[in-house]
Amino acid sequence: MSRVVIAAQLQQRFEGHVPELKTLHNGHFQNLVVGGGPAGYAIVSTLLDGGSWPTLWVDPAFQAGRLAQYLEVPANTKTKWLFPYATTPACGSGEPALEPFQGENLETPCALQASQQMVVLLTEHIFNHHSDKVTMRRGFVDSLQWLQDRWEIDDGQLTADRVFLATGSIPQEPVGFPGVPRISLDDGLVPSKLPGCVTSEDTVCVVGSSHSAMLVLMNLLGMDNGPKVVNVFRSALRYAREGPTGATTYEYTGLKGAAANWARERLETGYYERVGKLQRISTIDQHGSHALKACTKVIGAIGFKRSPLPAITVDGVPLRDIEHDKHTGVIIPGKLYGYGIAFPEEVIDPDSFANLLTDRS
Ligand SMILES: Cc1cc2nc3c(=O)[nH]c(=O)nc-3n(C[C@H](O)[C@H](O)[C@H](O)COP(=O)(O)OP(=O)(O)OC[C@H]3O[C@@H](n4cnc5c(N)ncnc54)[C@H](O)[C@@H]3O)c2cc1C
Repeated sequence: MSRVVIAAQLQQRFEGHVPELKTLHNGHFQNLVVGGGPAGYAIVSTLLDGGSWPTLWVDPAFQAGRLAQYLEVPANTKTKWLFPYATTPACGSGEPALEPFQGENLETPCALQASQQMVVLLTEHIFNHHSDKVTMRRGFVDSLQWLQDRWEIDDGQLTADRVFLATGSIPQEPVGFPGVPRISLDDGLVPSKLPGCVTSEDTVCVVGSSHSAMLVLMNLLGMDNGPKVVNVFRSALRYAREGPTGATTYEYTGLKGAAANWARERLETGYYERVGKLQRISTIDQHGSHALKACTKVIGAIGFKRSPLPAITVDGVPLRDIEHDKHTGVIIPGKLYGYGIAFPEEVIDPDSFANLLTDRS
């Protein structure tokens, strides 16, 4: 069965079976987990393994978060590193969830579609085997109010002792380029969407030199009859490097997999510049403004920012500028935690540079 067919079947199963949040009229939970992406699943399974329930788990679709938008995108994580995620006690044997990786080379990254299917299969396992401990509901949590000794969720009919935010991130838009039409990063990352966004008459400005920027450049320059491309960048290209001890420099910020190979072979060699399809401009290059004026469309690939959070108040006071502990995820001890791409863990790579997970894509 093809991956696309499996993905469509999984979607139908969830759309049919996970009830909507508004169908739950009252109840108190030990935990509320907001978000059903890879981080939301990791929290739910960790709580189960730690013996903490009942848990209310809320997401609009339970399709593995943003991974569902990147089914055609090559991954940057070695396949074998995903296995511990799928084989914790809460997922049973984990074998069905690892099926999407059958036949893959475990030492290289695979398509993100396989990771998305793994997360959906794990989510489905929770739905089928742990519904006595985890209540899953489709919807959005709009507000959270801490009053006395518990969180009131939305209109207060549902309550929880602790809240775990795993609400994910959205692409940041570059400033400038007044009047130039934007193409969303999500469209730029998906080759099948680009023919509907650009023509051979366009000159598209791609801003950034991240993993996402490389994938967008690869997609645009790989199009039959594609546009001309201008790439504006601030930082030089950085590649993840595995050292002799197995530790990797720029593990989370460097280029990896297909994006790294393409950048080395096609970008660094100047191939596309020689054939007149690409111009690369450093932001410090004063002479670049001429090329920028010719751009008819712009795609930003400069990083991600937190998705809008639910409105949070503590004893009537709005909680603004939320900060988390970058090692534990604690926002308010015992009450509020943040995990996943919106609340990244700080890691230090072998060259001793702080290397925040937010920068990974
Ligand atoms: C080009 C590209 C390649 C990548 N490659 C890899 C890779 O190879 N390996 C890897 O590990 N990662 C990769 N990533 C990163 C990966 O997509 C993210 O790290 C991951 O999706 C983050 O998971 P998350 O659960 O934190 O957030 P998300 O996946 O964004 O999930 C958040 C979920 O929370 C839901 N939500 C938000 N607000 C609310 C609310 N108020 N109420 C209810 N639900 C809410 C959202 O709808 C969403 O479903 C890549 C990203 C990009 C752009």
